[in-house]
Amino acid sequence: MKKVKLNTEWLSVCGGCHVAIVDLHEKILDVLGAVDVQHSPVLTDIKDYPKADVGIVTGAIRNEHDRHNAIQMRKSCDLIIAFGTCAVYGGIPGAGTVHSSDDLMHTAYTTSKTTHTTHMPSERVDRLSARVTPIDEVINVDLYLPGCPPHANFIFEALTSLVKGKSPKVGERNVCAACKRKMMRQPVTAIKNPLRDFPDRDTCLMCQGYICLGSVTLDRCLAPCPNTGVACTGCAGPSIQVLREPNRDLRTEVAQRMSRLTEIPADDIVRVIERGAKNYYSYAMASGMIGQKPTFLIKKWIADVEETA
Ligand code: SF4
Ligand code: SF4
Ligand code: SF4
Repeated sequence: MKKVKLNTEWLSVCGGCHVAIVDLHEKILDVLGAVDVQHSPVLTDIKDYPKADVGIVTGAIRNEHDRHNAIQMRKSCDLIIAFGTCAVYGGIPGAGTVHSSDDLMHTAYTTSKTTHTTHMPSERVDRLSARVTPIDEVINVDLYLPGCPPHANFIFEALTSLVKGKSPKVGERNVCAACKRKMMRQPVTAIKNPLRDFPDRDTCLMCQGYICLGSVTLDRCLAPCPNTGVACTGCAGPSIQVLREPNRDLRTEVAQRMSRLTEIPADDIVRVIERGAKNYYSYAMASGMIGQKPTFLIKKWIADVEETA
């Protein structure tokens, strides 16, 4: 069989998505047997962009260098996969949207407690753009594979389907569907602090009073966090229901569900999520979807940054 030519690229990114591709363990051999890896920052040292059948782009666009590389990938590849939450929604780099570029640079290079330098990057390094841009605002995307990073099963399914010329079967279920905990109403009256309290092993975390975003998050991970006692923070991005329906928002969805499963008033839960919006919305904060949602504080923070830009 003719090998599929593959280019990969990372933009504004942590590198975890590229590591996840290599982390397919022995399954990587099946993939490598079927693909010819060309331009790829972690696997080859090819600087230009040869023609390719499939292109994997990880990371968001945060400067002109990212924008240029995304466009080169689109020009060189027949099919583009937005791979990982950063590429699809802006991801963690997108959380910088609620701060000015100057503030981010000063925090990273001069005021952070762990940074011992007063030297800012020179003019040879591209300046951060005013905002973080998910890649489909700049180039056309053929397939979205969110996840931070996506689980190996989903990566393998996507890559092997594409190699065979088929559309990948990626389901639309939420994290709760892969979680082993049992949902049952509990006489809990207060929201728990995950840094102080310990959940029991079997009951749904939301029922125990922990704010868990599993019910509003697309499953691209097989629920490793709640299955090991840690509430889901939504790193794979919103569920299909939240994405498709403007009036469905993670804050109100979780508050109503959690309130029905406990004795905690929904308004109390809404207030806690709103106060912690930088955490609860961080992975999709740079996406256009936020503008449609009742996320008052985030919209105010973004407006404040735009005013000072
Ligand atoms: S999606 Fe997550 S793992 Fe992938 S590059 Fe972004 S932060 Fe890293
Ligand atoms: S809300 Fe969280 S703990 Fe409860 S079932 Fe869903 S993923 Fe599991
Ligand atoms: S935070 Fe949620 S979406 Fe992310 S890996 Fe954990 S369970 Fe999955």
